[in-house]
Amino acid sequence: MAFEFIAEQLAQQKLAHRLRHRQCIAEQHGVKLVYQNKEYVNFSSNDYLGLNQHPDINNAFQEGIKKFGASSCSSSLVTGFSYAHQVLEETICEWLNKPRCLLFNSGFSANHGVLHALATDQTQFWLDKLSHASLIDGALSGKAKVKRFLHNDYDHLEQLLSKKTLANNLIVSEGIFSMDGDQADANALQNLAQKHDAWLYLDDAHSLGLIGENGQGSTSINNHIDIVMATFGKAVATSGAFIACNEDLHDYLINFARHYIYSTAMSPANAWATKKSIEIIQKEQWRRDKIVELSALFSSLLHQEIALIPTSSSIHALVIGDEKKTLEITQNLKEKGIWLTAIRPPTVPNGTSRLRVTICANHKSSDIKELAENINKVIH
Ligand SMILES: *Cc1c(COP(=O)(O)O)cnc(C)c1O
Repeated sequence: MAFEFIAEQLAQQKLAHRLRHRQCIAEQHGVKLVYQNKEYVNFSSNDYLGLNQHPDINNAFQEGIKKFGASSCSSSLVTGFSYAHQVLEETICEWLNKPRCLLFNSGFSANHGVLHALATDQTQFWLDKLSHASLIDGALSGKAKVKRFLHNDYDHLEQLLSKKTLANNLIVSEGIFSMDGDQADANALQNLAQKHDAWLYLDDAHSLGLIGENGQGSTSINNHIDIVMATFGKAVATSGAFIACNEDLHDYLINFARHYIYSTAMSPANAWATKKSIEIIQKEQWRRDKIVELSALFSSLLHQEIALIPTSSSIHALVIGDEKKTLEITQNLKEKGIWLTAIRPPTVPNGTSRLRVTICANHKSSDIKELAENINKVIH
């Protein structure tokens, strides 16, 4: 019989408590969501700065629709590239102090597309072990060699780099890691890149909007990062992504990145709204301060035995280990009105199933207290 593996794989996932289902959220208002007629406080959202449904961003979306339409109607290389896209690119260049910016439809396609376009037989990618699936898949998609270094272990990376044999070397890491919330050292990575004649690629999905005086992310720490990627689907609270880089790479991607060339350009209304969101992010430092303040509160209220990784991000990982136990805990929290999705392999390494708590600027102190109290109870 053809495609027997489909049923087999599903059965295996189920047995390992790894089978995934979607849950249809009926309504979402700020940190509150409604599921099957019950209201929950959401601690699994990536809307870190609390910007989803911001009236100014909603208005910009509507204005964008009126000016440019909901659809770009074609690839950027045909007639899909509009004034809305251009000003968004310029806004990002200015914000991050980078010569060029290129928009993609998602962070996944940006990572995959750029690494694929750079993956010649004379290229080697050096990836942090905890890199996002899109980085791994992109790196493996072409003719390049791929080696992963131990997570945030730059001695290991240097050992590997000192034996490099190919001409084009790209170090790849995340600014803040998606499932652990810890941070790469952008300066150390940039120094290593320079020393070994390599380029540095940082995926700033979870840093953009959160790190730096104006929320520029990793470029506020080091402004020589060769290639910066970030999605609009997290703190920016719209959708799509960008690559910021030099002129030549920008032109090369327009000519050779298949994910860019053969895909309909992002909705121009979305681009217009994204620009508005970035303006708010630059201005409203209180949103970043609030996350830090609420994170400190959360940490202080947790039982002493529950150690959090120190981080200036929104992401706080409580590693439980076992899949089944993690699911039971999240189920328990759901009964108390707390929405926390269990994160299981293969999203995280085997034996590290976890609660991934995201603290957002629009959570209240009382939400955090409620969460900490309930976690203290269910973990014991
Ligand atoms: C979410 C995420 C992506 C993918 O971005 P999308 O716009 O959601 O496709 C890429 N890298 C990291 C680290 C992410 O967390």
